[in-house]
Formats: sequence, C-alpha cells, structure tokens
Amino acid sequence: MKYSSFNLSEQNQKVESRIVVALERISEAFRVLLWNESKENSLSPIQIQILIFIYFHSQEKCKVGYLADEFNMTKATISDSVKVLLAKDLVAKEINTTDTRSYSISLTPEGKQIAKKASFFASSIEQPLEKLTEEQKTVMLNGLLKLIYDLNKSGIITIQRMCFTCANYQVDKGVHYCKLLKSRLAENELRVDCPEHELQL
Ligand code: SF4
Repeated sequence: MKYSSFNLSEQNQKVESRIVVALERISEAFRVLLWNESKENSLSPIQIQILIFIYFHSQEKCKVGYLADEFNMTKATISDSVKVLLAKDLVAKEINTTDTRSYSISLTPEGKQIAKKASFFASSIEQPLEKLTEEQKTVMLNGLLKLIYDLNKSGIITIQRMCFTCANYQVDKGVHYCKLLKSRLAENELRVDCPEHELQL
C-alpha cells in the first residue's frame, strides 16, 4: 500500500517524503507571516494578497475572474474581499468603457502604501536563502520550477506565468532560450512570474 509522507516510520526512508514535509513546514511559515501582516492592517490574508498582486501586475490581470484563478478561490470569495477593500477605500473599480459590466481593480494611494509595505511579508524567508551558495540556489529554483510545472499540468495549481509554460520558451539539449528577449536563459535566470509571459497554445 502507498504510504503517507507524514508517516514518520516510513518518511525517513524516502527523500521525496521529507521534501513534501519540508515544503509543508515552509507553507506554514508563509501562512503565519501573512497572517501577522493581515492583522496589522485589520485585513484578511487574501485581502492582503490581492493588494500585493495588484501592486505588481498589469491592469488586465486585476480582474475578479483572474484573481480567482490566481488564488485558487471562487469568484464569489474574491468578490467579497474586493467589496471590503472598496469599502475601506484601498482599491477602486476601473470600468471598461466598451463593456460597462466588466471592470478591473486598481489601488488607491492608501492601498498602494499598504501593498508596498505588505509586499515584504516574506523577507524573513528570503534572508536564509541568501546564505546558500549560487549552486544550491540554482538547484533549488530548478527543482521548485519543475514541481510547480507538474502541479500546474495536473490541475492542482491554476495560473502559471513561468518560462516552462511560455510560448516564447525553447529548450534544446538543456539550453534554455527566450524568443522574446532573444537571449539564452541561465538555469538561475528562469522566471517564476514573468510580465511578458505568453501562454502556450
Ligand atoms: S517571455 Fe518571460 S516567461 Fe516567456 S520565456 Fe521569456 S523570460 Fe520566460
């Protein structure tokens, strides 16, 4: 029978299980840090995530449907969060002039201020990573990219804007290339969230 990664007597026999458990511990750290940031601003974690997302992404991505896919939530849940942010004057609706039922969301000056500060919520996770060698960081980045790619292919993670899912990405004998940038990409230059990403058809 297949065993659980959390089964302690078996976990130490399999490196994959120990990686799963390690990732779970790290996701817990993200949860705690995000929660602390949310409390400081009297917002929920998803409301903080929405503000940070809008702060760094182009307007066509800042729509309820896109945000729902991005955060693996229903449109209704995102809509409720957006309503709270609107009521707190942290975001504004940008109505589409050609279709008045459709709108995107932008940050107000106060929303921008909160998003800017909150965007550093994970810096205590980045600091220990800075102590790794360049080789260790490259191996870790590649492993994580491959894991995210497979989770995306199996439908567990929805939207991805990484090189591996981009129409501009090519790989030949292990050499990565971006057709848009017209440049080779070193292993440690592969992107997780690229503003120029174009989905493969
Ligand atoms: S456009 Fe961005 S995501 Fe696509 S291959 Fe180039 S660097 Fe990677």
